[in-house]
Amino acid sequence: MKPRGLSTELIHRGEDVPVRADAVGVPIYETTTFLFENADEVRRYQEGKVSKYLYSRYANPTVVATEQKLAALDRAESALVFASGMAASSTLMLTFLKPGDELLCSAAIYGGTFHLIHDVLSTLQIGFRFATLDEFERPASLFGPKTRMCWVESPINPTLRCVDVARVANACRDAGVLSVLDNTFASPINQQPLALGVDLAMQSATKYLNGHADVTAGVVSGPRALVQKVDLMRRYLGGVLDPMAAFALARGLKTLPVRIARHNETGGKVARFLEGDRRVQRVYYPGLESHPDHAIAQAQMSGFGGMVTFEVAGGLDGASRVFDRLRLIRRATSLGGVDSLVSLPVLTSHYNYSDEDLRRAGVTAGMLRVSLGLEDEADLIEDLDQALGS
Ligand code: PLP
Repeated sequence: MKPRGLSTELIHRGEDVPVRADAVGVPIYETTTFLFENADEVRRYQEGKVSKYLYSRYANPTVVATEQKLAALDRAESALVFASGMAASSTLMLTFLKPGDELLCSAAIYGGTFHLIHDVLSTLQIGFRFATLDEFERPASLFGPKTRMCWVESPINPTLRCVDVARVANACRDAGVLSVLDNTFASPINQQPLALGVDLAMQSATKYLNGHADVTAGVVSGPRALVQKVDLMRRYLGGVLDPMAAFALARGLKTLPVRIARHNETGGKVARFLEGDRRVQRVYYPGLESHPDHAIAQAQMSGFGGMVTFEVAGGLDGASRVFDRLRLIRRATSLGGVDSLVSLPVLTSHYNYSDEDLRRAGVTAGMLRVSLGLEDEADLIEDLDQALGS
C-alpha cells in the first residue's frame, strides 16, 4: 500500500491508544466528538442499545464525571453542569416555562436572575411576579392559576436574608408548582436543598464549588426525570461546560468540605467583630442572633458560610471610602474563592436597579459585601479595622 502523506500521519498517529490509563484525577477528554466503528454502532447508539459518547455538547466523560461528583454532593439522582450559573438558570427556566405561564420569584434575589426574568422572560410572554420576603411567609397565597415555577435563593445575595425553604417547597408541592432553590451562597456542605423538599437545586459553580476564582460554571441537580428534561434543553441551547473547565471544577470540589469549614469559622468571627464595632451601622450574617432570619438559618443550615455584608454611614460615598482603603481584601466582584474579595452591591450584583427595586431587594448604597477567603482571620480583621478608619 502507498505510504500515507506526512500530514495525515501527524494528524492521526497516537489517537488509537487505549484511553483507560488508571489516572488518579479526572482525565480531561478535550474532544468535541467520538469515534464509531461503523454505521451499525451509530444506529445502536441512537436506539440506546450501546452506551458510549457521540458529541461533547450532549455528553463528555470529563463533564459526566464532574456531574456525578456534584450529584453526590447534593444527594441527587442526577446533576448537569453548564457554562455559567446564568446558563444553568436560563436553561432551567426555558425547560419548564412556556408562554402564558407565570414564574414566582422573591424580590430579593441575585441581580442577574432578576434581570433574566424581568428583561428576557417577559419578551417570551412568560409572566412573572416578584414577591417580598414578608409575602413569602405565606407562599400559598402568592400562587395564581398560571404559576408554574417558584424560584428562591437562600441565603440571598447580598443581604444574606434566608427563605424558609421547606415551607416554600411544601406549599409548591401542594399547589403543583415546581420549586427551585439557588443554593450558591450556602453550598451543599451548609445546606441541602433537595432534602429540604425543593424539586430542583441550582448553583453558580463559579463560587464555592470551584472555589478558586478560575472557572465560570453552573449546576442543576435533582430527580432524574426532571434533570433529563433540562438535559434535552441544554443540548438545544448549547450552554454545556467545556471539559477543561469541568476538570478544574472537579478538582476544586475535592477540597470543598475543608474550605467551607474554614469559611464558616472565619465568617462567624469577622461578623462578630463587625457587629461589635461602632463604625459599622449594621451587619448581615445569618449566624448572628441579630439577623432577622437567624432562626430559619439555624433550622435549615449546618454552617453559615463566609459571606458577610455590612453597612456604614454616608451611603455609597461612605462605603466607597472603606472599599478603597482595604489592602488584603481585594476589590473584585464574585465570591466563594480562596481569596477574600469585596464588592459594592449597588455598583455590581445590583447595578441598574430602580430605587424601588433596590428597596424591595433590601439592598442599600452603604453596603459592602465581603467574601471571606482562606487567609488568616486575624489579618482579615486587621484589614477591616484599618479600612473602617477613625
Ligand atoms: N446566583 C447567585 C446567587 C449569584 O451570586 C450568581 C453570580 O454572582 C449567579 C447565580 C450567576 O452565576 P454566574 O456568574 O456563574 O453565571
